[in-house]
Amino acid sequence: MGATTSLPMYAVEDVPGKGKGLIATEDIPKGTRITSEKPIFTSGEHVGTMEQLEIRIHQQVGSLSKDQQREFCSMENIYPYNNSTERWRGIFRTNALPMGPELATGGIFLKACRINHACDNNAQNFWNENLDQLTIHAVRDIVKGEEITISYLRSRRNRRARQEELRENFKFTCSCRLCSLPPDQSRDSDSKLDRVHELDCVIEEGGVPGLVSSARRMLGYVDEQVRLWNEPAPDEVGLVRAYPDAFQIAIANGDLARARIFAQRVVPLYMNSIGDESPGVAQYSKLVRDPTTHDYYGMSMKWKTTLDEKRRKETAQGQLADLRDRETFPCFDDLPDEQDLDTDYFECRDMANRRPVRHWCFLAEIQDFNSFIRLQMTVKDVDGATLPLFFHTNRRGDELPQSQIQKGYTVAILYAVRHAFMSCEPGIRHENPQMMKIFHLSLDGLQSLSEKVQNVSTELDGVRTCHGCGQKGTSRKRCGRCSSVWYCTRVCQKADWIEEGHKAECKVLKDPDWRAMLRLKWDEFDGHVHFPLRTRETS
Ligand SMILES: [Zn+2]
Ligand SMILES: [Zn+2]
Ligand SMILES: [Zn+2]
Repeated sequence: MGATTSLPMYAVEDVPGKGKGLIATEDIPKGTRITSEKPIFTSGEHVGTMEQLEIRIHQQVGSLSKDQQREFCSMENIYPYNNSTERWRGIFRTNALPMGPELATGGIFLKACRINHACDNNAQNFWNENLDQLTIHAVRDIVKGEEITISYLRSRRNRRARQEELRENFKFTCSCRLCSLPPDQSRDSDSKLDRVHELDCVIEEGGVPGLVSSARRMLGYVDEQVRLWNEPAPDEVGLVRAYPDAFQIAIANGDLARARIFAQRVVPLYMNSIGDESPGVAQYSKLVRDPTTHDYYGMSMKWKTTLDEKRRKETAQGQLADLRDRETFPCFDDLPDEQDLDTDYFECRDMANRRPVRHWCFLAEIQDFNSFIRLQMTVKDVDGATLPLFFHTNRRGDELPQSQIQKGYTVAILYAVRHAFMSCEPGIRHENPQMMKIFHLSLDGLQSLSEKVQNVSTELDGVRTCHGCGQKGTSRKRCGRCSSVWYCTRVCQKADWIEEGHKAECKVLKDPDWRAMLRLKWDEFDGHVHFPLRTRETS
């Protein structure tokens, strides 16, 4: 890191089949700045047509020193030409390196433009606007005599896609180590890169809204990318792209503790690949100090943590479950995928033997149902998204009494996963009757009931809130049916029963499954639970 040493660590030499190249003349440890330099000329910021580019390059080359001109003219040109102007344009297009992420401006660098391509490059080029120079950093340990390489690719795809991009833009067939792997290893490498790319596309498709609406799933995808980039050995070029995504998801959902950890992982990766004076290092060092300075902070607070707090908080003693808690009662999009082995949810890395490692319960309101071959429902989740729910139980839904199957009632499914159906959009394939319970109340009604019970049934120094009029008092009169709510007078109780709908709530409140649901320590996992749900307090 730091300043370039006075003697170069490389020599320009002939490389068989590639023209000139840079060869390390000493061992270069990872993170070393191999060189940094200013361009001898650039395309300028706003290049319009090819003709304009040609004119600009003609002027620029004309004003170079004789030595620079000779060096420039000795560079490769892969484009056909009829005169020197066209030839110079060809040399420029063949050799220019991007100055900035937009690829709009290119520059000619006498040393860096000599560096050849490899798909598993050991060095990285970066236009550092703070230094106003292009830097080349070793992203792996490079041994003396090894060729120094950078990547000309926009991103690292499978072998065929890489070869196409290189032939199209640079007219050569790559024979780097990655492109010359034996067939079985090449297949493994391709399937890994395909998966990373597939995940990239899904994350990109979700856009900024997806960071919140599908937060858990998106974080699962980034987590999978990190796992892939770490196999068989950590690949920093890949990891440095994954961790900023993880940071964005955490900060967009208010999880300061995790956001800081992800930012901390980005900093050394940027130090190694683009250097400590780079804007990236400055940006992420600032985010480590104060993640709230990021633009996405505050989009959602559903994973809210303070900086030093662990995400999963212990539920306070006597505290009841909050049905609006999206960690425990996630939306459909946040459920783990049946095909994924999301380690946040499951242990064991094979599909047949996975077991949940935490509790979660999917809540959704019945919108519609029919039972042609099997019971099938359309349900609406906590975000208002509708999805199909198919009953693949032994009795295909016949196990449910007809009285429970009503529009507007709410299904609760423990440890639900997303299932990709062949014939329709993704939904839930319900197999084990013990995992499901239907509550005779709307989803909204259920959620506000959990809130009410929280407020009304908890007493503070013997003072309780009347479920009817909302006044505080020390009355001992409870509803005799559910014994979950208090009233100051019988008048309040009667009014609440008839006018405020306690009648419907009361049925749910009496239900031992409901009581257990509120009292279960959802954050403490000690083996999976099932319906009928019982806890120590309610059994
Ligand atoms: Zn290659
Ligand atoms: Zn009252
Ligand atoms: Zn009651």
